[in-house]
Amino acid sequence: MCIEYYLSMWCNNLSKSILTGFLILILLPSCLVPDEEIVQEEIIVKVLPPEEFIIPTDFDFEGTIATWSGFSPAAASITFDDGTYDQYAAAFPILEEIGIKGTFYLAAKLIDEGMWNDNGTMRQMMNWSNAAEIAAAGHEIGSHSMNHMDLTASGVDLEQELKGSRDFLEKNLSGVKVETFCWPHWRENTESLSAASKYYLSGRSGNGLISYYYKRKGGIPSNPPSDMYKVNALGILISQEEEQWKAVIDDVLEKGSWFVSSYHGVDNGTLSDSQMGWNALNDKVFRKTVLYPVEKGFWVDTFAHISKYIYQRDAAVLSIRNRKYFIEMSLDDQMDDKIYDQKISLSLKKPENWPTVIVLDNMGREIPFKTDGTLLFIDILPDSSVIEIKPY
Ligand SMILES: [Zn+2]
Repeated sequence: MCIEYYLSMWCNNLSKSILTGFLILILLPSCLVPDEEIVQEEIIVKVLPPEEFIIPTDFDFEGTIATWSGFSPAAASITFDDGTYDQYAAAFPILEEIGIKGTFYLAAKLIDEGMWNDNGTMRQMMNWSNAAEIAAAGHEIGSHSMNHMDLTASGVDLEQELKGSRDFLEKNLSGVKVETFCWPHWRENTESLSAASKYYLSGRSGNGLISYYYKRKGGIPSNPPSDMYKVNALGILISQEEEQWKAVIDDVLEKGSWFVSSYHGVDNGTLSDSQMGWNALNDKVFRKTVLYPVEKGFWVDTFAHISKYIYQRDAAVLSIRNRKYFIEMSLDDQMDDKIYDQKISLSLKKPENWPTVIVLDNMGREIPFKTDGTLLFIDILPDSSVIEIKPY
């Protein structure tokens, strides 16, 4: 079995069957000798592949780390502010149905209290078990502070609002790691930004007016964002026309950047006013807005996942080594792998004389990849393994 295996590693499809038959004939008597000698023969077959598979001397070892996962042209995060009940009852099922993961920013104390006096409007919040269900489905739970205060106001206990809310959410949602933050009232300042950087990987800012999104809040996030603790988001509101929010998303796509949307209420026609968040969007409109980036080929993922991808991508070093009969490759970002756990997409040029290849980790396990015939597309966890790419 092993003989056939190694043969298939080094033979192209055309010559495989002929060679296999030939070598099985030659090696047949080896079945009668002790195991040790069989192993030796297998090694000889393995290290001496046909000359035709030697990597050409002028081969260009080209490798590229993808800007966004899967070489998507842009990224998008769907985020929710506050944690009102409609986000669980109306928005969450739509995301599940489409198959995308969102980020739910919860105001920790308000979730615990169940009702929120939002400037005179009483709103029902989702409860802890609703939030746990959302998290268990793979969506992100982030912090929207403890009490939903303006964190730029004097006298605010930043430690309590930032660290306290994170700890409180994690205490009430077993197994959930709260990693990113969203600014209440879309307000942050130097002091609060610096405090947030101690407890979170990144933070989401934004505005509900398209003109403010562009002119006051920094516009479309650069890549990487100039400040990972105030990544600009567009609040999608009832007042916006379809062409308006589509134009912003198209603009992000053209720049190959990161579209972050911010939602409050979502109305599915069965909820009472007090169960819905501010500025509740009709659920059909909501669906359209979240589907649009999907249809345009964006990589849609949580705010935490995309933040980590950016950090890892920008820290990663790709090394490619010529081993004559195979290519050795490693990707290292030197970051804490317990936190920075995103697979990074990369492409690698394949020698033309290799009709098909196999990609293996250092334990000999196959790593899946895609190819267009010239390039191999592989997703790997940085710092995890030296990868071998061989003809197969
Ligand atoms: Zn809010």
